[in-house]
Amino acid sequence: MTKEEIHEMKSGPEMDLLILEKVMGWKRVPRPEHWVCSATFGLENAGGDSCCPVCQLPSYSEAYSMEASWMVVEKMMAKGYNYTIRGNFEGNGKHWCGFDHQEWADSNPLFKSPLCDTLPLAICKAALIAIAEDAKGDTP
Ligand SMILES: [Zn+2]
Repeated sequence: MTKEEIHEMKSGPEMDLLILEKVMGWKRVPRPEHWVCSATFGLENAGGDSCCPVCQLPSYSEAYSMEASWMVVEKMMAKGYNYTIRGNFEGNGKHWCGFDHQEWADSNPLFKSPLCDTLPLAICKAALIAIAEDAKGDTP
């Protein structure tokens, strides 16, 4: 997934699933642990917790509250990133978020979201952009 594709994405389940897999590190497993929905795969984290991608997906990118998107910020910090958040940037009601590396002194890129209508969406986009751009750097 490219930076440009992430810029165009809207908040919702598609983005939440990307966050769960690419940022939070959950892996796909053959079946969810319950039989009540149409999911064709389940998700598990390193701690053995399971989650259904259809009916149990955390709303990281939706603006119901900051709680879920803040988990994304904390996870990025655990991965070695600093965050920058600008809410209501220049009074236009838009928000952006950026991540950069805690340990990099020189040529430390700031992976920045576009201006977004909500802060959770800005956080999710910045996190996905940072992960995607850093993964690109690892494969010359
Ligand atoms: Zn389900």
